[in-house]
Amino acid sequence: MQKGKIGVTSENLFPIIKKFLYSDHDIFLREIISNAVDATQKLKTLASKGEYKGDVTNQKVEVKLDAKAKTITISDSGIGMTAEEIDKYINQIAFSGANEFLEKYKNDAHAIIGHFGLGFYSSFMVSDKVEVITKSYKEGAQAVKWSCTGSPEFTIEDTERDEVGTDIVMHISDEEKGFLEEAKVSEILGKYCAFLPVPVIFGKKKDWKDGKQVETEEDNQINEVSPAWTKAPADLKDEDYKEFYRKLYPMADEPLFHIHLNVDYPFNLTGILYFPKIKNNFEVQKNKIQLYSNQVFVTDSVEGIVPEFLTLLHGVLDSPDIPLNVSRSYLQSDSNVKKISGHINKKVADRLAQIFKDSREDFESKWDDLKIFIEYGMLTEEKFYDRAMNFFMFKNVDGKYFTFEEYEKLIKDSQTDKDKNLIHIYASNKEEQFTFIEATKNKGYDVLLLDDVLTPHVIQKFEQKYTDKRFVRVDSDVVENLVKKEDTTQNELSFEEKEELSPVFQAVCPEDKDFHFMVDFQNLGENDAPIVITRSEFMRRMKDMSATQGGMNMYGDMPESLNLVVNMNHPLVKKVVETKDKKLGKKLEKLVTDITAKKAEVEVMEKAKKDKKEEEIPQADKEKLEDLNKELATMEGSKRDQLTDFGKNNKIAKQMVDLALLANGMLKGADLDKFVKRSVELIK
Ligand code: ADP
Repeated sequence: MQKGKIGVTSENLFPIIKKFLYSDHDIFLREIISNAVDATQKLKTLASKGEYKGDVTNQKVEVKLDAKAKTITISDSGIGMTAEEIDKYINQIAFSGANEFLEKYKNDAHAIIGHFGLGFYSSFMVSDKVEVITKSYKEGAQAVKWSCTGSPEFTIEDTERDEVGTDIVMHISDEEKGFLEEAKVSEILGKYCAFLPVPVIFGKKKDWKDGKQVETEEDNQINEVSPAWTKAPADLKDEDYKEFYRKLYPMADEPLFHIHLNVDYPFNLTGILYFPKIKNNFEVQKNKIQLYSNQVFVTDSVEGIVPEFLTLLHGVLDSPDIPLNVSRSYLQSDSNVKKISGHINKKVADRLAQIFKDSREDFESKWDDLKIFIEYGMLTEEKFYDRAMNFFMFKNVDGKYFTFEEYEKLIKDSQTDKDKNLIHIYASNKEEQFTFIEATKNKGYDVLLLDDVLTPHVIQKFEQKYTDKRFVRVDSDVVENLVKKEDTTQNELSFEEKEELSPVFQAVCPEDKDFHFMVDFQNLGENDAPIVITRSEFMRRMKDMSATQGGMNMYGDMPESLNLVVNMNHPLVKKVVETKDKKLGKKLEKLVTDITAKKAEVEVMEKAKKDKKEEEIPQADKEKLEDLNKELATMEGSKRDQLTDFGKNNKIAKQMVDLALLANGMLKGADLDKFVKRSVELIK
């Protein structure tokens, strides 16, 4: 027996590494099994070159769990090692590699977790002692046993092994005895080894017999050696792709379609990406892509490797060219990763363009499920935006689809305003905005349905890109004003008239802490609604945006400002005005004359005061002015009160406002009840 000391610099690295890697010690199995797979494949290569004459047809890797002996053993029928090779690869390289690795990442524990680089050494994370029993493929090689208890000292001695290959025996430490549970080992194998290219056997298949689980004769192979992505697309049917998807995500809905990636120059990349059905809650569907390196599972967090919006896709990527033992920030600047990311980006756009071209009908039928994904890409990746403009779809409220250009043609004649802006009118909810949509359609305009969470951002993006395009929601103004054709110098009401009518209608607006109503007057058609409630496009968008962004929510917290537009040409409105004149006319007229007179008096006194210094103004004048102002305020207050009282008691005004609220889905509860009762009364 020989003794020696491993080439490590520190006396004892083991306690450090154990602690260091605590959060992800599962990976030791992946590392040891990957080595076994590599050794097996190397022997196969040698055999194919005629450098090894033995049988390589039934190669496999076996995982054996012995709870009594507290060991996990990984056995392979690979190339094995001679004593010299153990010294070189295990004593020197493996350990110096680990040493270097630790040195490099001691301040970045995160970089290590779930990544390669530790290899053989990681077995010591869970073991008190590790033994390597190995016999090299080389002719006449002597089998050897290497043993190490976790200090830098090891022993190596001759031993017996019938076949060429290696057993790694890990004596699991007491703290890690959880790994001696079959279920735990199964779980880890399922996660990391499911698609390894050499059969991995873990015990025997089990069966249910008389209500009990019993072992069968059949090997329990835990992996699929040729998963779909390693095959040629020509050899796969649509159903094969779907089946593979179900294997990856047993609980998910069927995907919309897939992309099979297969590149070998200038980088190596294979994989299958699936488009899942994406609903509005897309956060839960993010980060489902699994990353492999030569069929060894690495991670399911691909941020930094694929563009952010593509993390919505599902599937598998396999590339030995993605550096795995580096930190995320490094990853993003790696040139291979950049190329890979750019490639995937392009492939995805190409595939969408192809489906669009091959079958527009199919594309349209999938659009509603795809749009969030496409919009997300357009908003976050300029290159994708450019490509996506070929297949981005507008859908109108009647369910018709248009490309951006087609839509432009459709609305050009009718919806270009006086400033040559092309006005895109949209609804965000067909039910709630029904009245507005109808009015807009009757006017001969088209109404888009833009109703997903990204809508406000997409609109903003379009408006930034095309300065002659505007988006206005159907309820942002009365239909006459949605597309402003010419400067209509309407028969505007005078300031005084407005001042007098405002309190009447303000009095019948609901009082609500979430809304604030601004009364406005317009000369609309006789057949248009008497009152329309609109919400300013600007304010509403600010509110929408702050709602999706969260955080600082200045606009979100403000009460929403709504416009109550009174149609002065409507007979019912005219009737209210007439009644007001009849009821309050005389009284108001007198009051108004008095107010005007008082105002004149105040004016004169103010003027006289203006050129004088404060001390030159007689005290009597000062007092008089104060009194006058008080009287004026009282008179104005009284005027407002009378108008408010009139408004409050005017059933028609109330009814008209309620109808407008109703059309907006804003009349509820007790107010709705009162409305119904009042309606019945009015009909009687
Ligand atoms: P890496 O696998 O990254 O090279 P490891 O520390 O995992 O680093 O292994 C070091 C070396 O030990 C391997 O490159 C290989 O030459 C040898 N080795 C490890 N496990 C086996 C095995 N099961 N059979 C044959 N050689 C092995």
